Amino acid sequence: SIQEVEHIWHNGQLIRWQDAKVHVLTHALHYGTSLFEGIRVYDTPDGPKGFRVHDHMQRLVDSAKIYGIELDYDAEALTKACLDTVAANNLRSAYIRPVAFLGYGSIGVAPLTLPPVEIYMAAFPWGAYLGDEGRTKGVDVCVSSWNRLAPNTAPTGAKAGGNYLSSFLISREAKLNGFAEGIGLDTEGRLSEGAGENIFAVKDGRILTPPAASSILQGITRDSIIKLAKAEGIEVVEQALPREILYLADEIFFTGTAVELTPVRSVDRKPTRAGGPGEITKCLQDRFFGLFEGRTPDRWNWLEPVPAT
Ligand code: PMP
Repeated sequence: SIQEVEHIWHNGQLIRWQDAKVHVLTHALHYGTSLFEGIRVYDTPDGPKGFRVHDHMQRLVDSAKIYGIELDYDAEALTKACLDTVAANNLRSAYIRPVAFLGYGSIGVAPLTLPPVEIYMAAFPWGAYLGDEGRTKGVDVCVSSWNRLAPNTAPTGAKAGGNYLSSFLISREAKLNGFAEGIGLDTEGRLSEGAGENIFAVKDGRILTPPAASSILQGITRDSIIKLAKAEGIEVVEQALPREILYLADEIFFTGTAVELTPVRSVDRKPTRAGGPGEITKCLQDRFFGLFEGRTPDRWNWLEPVPAT
């Protein structure tokens, strides 16, 4: 269940949590015409800081551009709104969910004049997505019987609501079969990503991860981990990967705003060589969480302070 707070941002204004409602004939409710983000704010020793908020908001703007949906706000303005919303709710750490969608006005799938665009932003407390235990010990996952979207169906590079029907099928199937999460292959059978996270394999000291063309969302955490790994002198290769890398890897881990950096300890009941969080996974977890605990220098200016209220 969601932990309620006081305010939600709507089209430039803070409104009360319970007033953030939509009509049943909202376009996005029927056709998945929404674009969204997931962002985290961490309670650092220097006060609450958003992690790569501007990059997330730029991706939101880009997702809208892919669909030809015009937002009245640029990444700059949305970043400020995000940090202000966290401040207005006196949150020291939070998960933020901005969502832009086609609202009420027409029920045709693609009317020439689109329904009005609504933007909401909610900030609320939220812990580890795959559990604290998953984050320390690793999770058991499976390859899904469902593939990710093909490149010429709907673009996985846009973070659009409709894409998450694929994630829903992949994740539900996995959980009903007793796994923590499901992994999708692309329509060519190559490794793609988890239902809501990017995936990395470690083999012989190198880190391997599928490229943008393998029907993935190019995660902001993925990018951060690649940069942190390279800063450690670890080689990172973005390349098309066969399914069997999952069975032969020394280590596997997921990245994403929700899962942060979560080790995978088995795939399809086959344990990784490490059988839990391996050395490279633990090193990168340390560097990643170190950003928020003041141990890892923020060389890339990823942290943005929440204004004081
Ligand atoms: N892939 C999918 C399908 C996702 O939903 C997410 C979560 N946004 C990710 C990857 C990871 O992206 P990020 O690191 O930007 O949260």
